[in-house]
Amino acid sequence: MKTAVTIKEVRAQVGEWRKEGLTVGLVPTMGYLHEGHASLVDRAVSMCDRVVASVFVNPTQFGPGEDLETYPRDFARDCALLEEHGCDLVFHPEVSEMYEADAATYVEILSDMPKQLCGKTRPIHFRGVCTVVSKLFNIVQPDKAFFGQKDAQQLAIIRRMVRDLSYGIEIVGCPIIREEDGLAKSSRNTYLNEEERQAALVLSKAVFLGEKMAEEGEQDAGKIVSAMKALIEAEPLARIDYVSAVDAVTMEPVARMEGSVLVAMAVYIGKTRLIDNFIR
Ligand code: AMP
Repeated sequence: MKTAVTIKEVRAQVGEWRKEGLTVGLVPTMGYLHEGHASLVDRAVSMCDRVVASVFVNPTQFGPGEDLETYPRDFARDCALLEEHGCDLVFHPEVSEMYEADAATYVEILSDMPKQLCGKTRPIHFRGVCTVVSKLFNIVQPDKAFFGQKDAQQLAIIRRMVRDLSYGIEIVGCPIIREEDGLAKSSRNTYLNEEERQAALVLSKAVFLGEKMAEEGEQDAGKIVSAMKALIEAEPLARIDYVSAVDAVTMEPVARMEGSVLVAMAVYIGKTRLIDNFIR
């Protein structure tokens, strides 16, 4: 596996692959990788001739007071995991390589889509995500890009951006990978102490409860959300940011479990904000 720290190096390597007629997959990440990220790499390896992963903690998607400075990093470990899973090139740029000091151009969806769910408490988050993903698309020019369903709103927003800006890139959504006890894998799980790690199980328990209710035919989205909220509220260390049922494509709130519905949540466990969801 090769490592590139400059845009020029990435372009040179991908250019060589293109000349050989090879297809290229991209897996964008912020590093501190786990089996969730590895599953995206596995999928990319199975669908593309060459796979590029990016490891970049993107400052433009963090708001004031969020965890940009403390976000966990371990590039050596990330490289070992990527290599083990068959990644061909890891792009690990400095912030200054990705953003000129006077960079002033952003990619932003101007509908309500990025204002729903996580956008309510993270107003600039998806503008930062769209901007960095758009830059990565321009740098790597992949055939396909791989994103986790764990960040369901992000995945829906990237699909919309790709559609609206006519990127000829196939977006592949990949299922949520969980710990054995149900907790969705996340780099931020490392913030949890032992007691909080136990308490964090309320997220997946709520997801499984909601899923079961939907499966058993509950059509009232409000009832499902209420039951999930009640379960979470019974955990003293948990504080709900939101639990919502929305249209899985537009992110508009829905009252009924009709069509494709995303039931998503963000919950603070102590100071750590965790997300989880299911689609029905
Ligand atoms: P991050 O490094 O947290 O920005 O995540 C990079 C990519 O990995 C995103 O597309 C995430 O949705 C995906 N991802 C993170 N955690 C998981 C998980 N537990 N299961 C599947 N995909 C995940």
